[in-house]
Amino acid sequence: MNEEIILKIKGLYKTYGEKDTEVKAIDGIDLEIKKGQFVSILGASGSGKTTLLELISGLLSPTSGTIMIDGQRISNLEEPDRTIMRRENIGIVFQQFNLLSMLTGYENIVLPCKIASRKVDDAYFRDIIHSLKIEDQIKKYPSQMSGGQKQRIAIARALITHPKIVLADEPTGSLDHKNSLRTVQLLKTAKEKYQQTIIMITHNEELTKYSDRVIRVEDGKIIKDTLKNE
Ligand code: ADP
Ligand code: MG
Repeated sequence: MNEEIILKIKGLYKTYGEKDTEVKAIDGIDLEIKKGQFVSILGASGSGKTTLLELISGLLSPTSGTIMIDGQRISNLEEPDRTIMRRENIGIVFQQFNLLSMLTGYENIVLPCKIASRKVDDAYFRDIIHSLKIEDQIKKYPSQMSGGQKQRIAIARALITHPKIVLADEPTGSLDHKNSLRTVQLLKTAKEKYQQTIIMITHNEELTKYSDRVIRVEDGKIIKDTLKNE
C-alpha cells in the first residue's frame, strides 16, 4: 500500500453569512487522505458534505485553515490559479451528471483534455471505456443514454486527465438502487485499476461498503473515521 498523503487538511473552518444568519458549515476539520484510498464521507443533509468537497476542489475558499493537495497549498490561491489547480488535480462527478447535451459521449469524456489543451491518452481512453463498459455509448448523445450510462460517461470524464483526486458528490442521487450500486462499484474499479484516489459523498450507508474508509460528519465536524481492513 502506498503511504503517500495526497490530501492534507488542517484546522478547516467555513462560515456562511454573518451575525444572525451565520452558519458554521465546516467547524474545525483535520484530515489526511492517502493516495489510492477510496473514502466515503457520510452524513445527513446539511452536515457540511458539499461545502467540504467545494473547499477541496477550490470552488470555495475557507474562512480559515489550510488544504494541501500533493504537498501544494491550494487554500490560499486566487483566480486564475485556483481554476488551473482544479483542472490539473481534480476530477468531479456530479449528482446530475452535468454532461453537455450537444456533445457525444466521446466528446464529453475528452472535454477536460480539450479545455486544458492536453492530448488525449488514447490507450487510457480505450481502457477506461472498457472498464466502465461504455464502448457502445461513446457515439451517442446524452439524450440517448440511461441515467446509469450517463453517470459512467461522467466518471470516465473525471478520470481522463489522471487527476490526483476524484471527488463525487452524491453521484448516485439521480439513480435507482441497482444503478447506484453499480456506479459505486465502478468507482472502486477505478481505484483498483488506476490507483485513483476517490472521495465520495453520500447519505446512504449501504453505498459505503465498497470504500476503504468511512468518515462520518455531523454539524461540520468529523464524528467518526473508520478504516476498513484491506
Ligand atoms: P450537505 O451537503 O451535507 O447537505 P452543505 O455543505 O450543503 O451540507 O451545507 C452545510 C450547511 O451550510 C447547511 O446548514 C446549509 O444550509 C449551509 N449552506 C450551504 N451553502 C450555503 C450558502 N451558499 N449560503 C449560506 N448557507 C449555506
Ligand atoms: Mg450536499
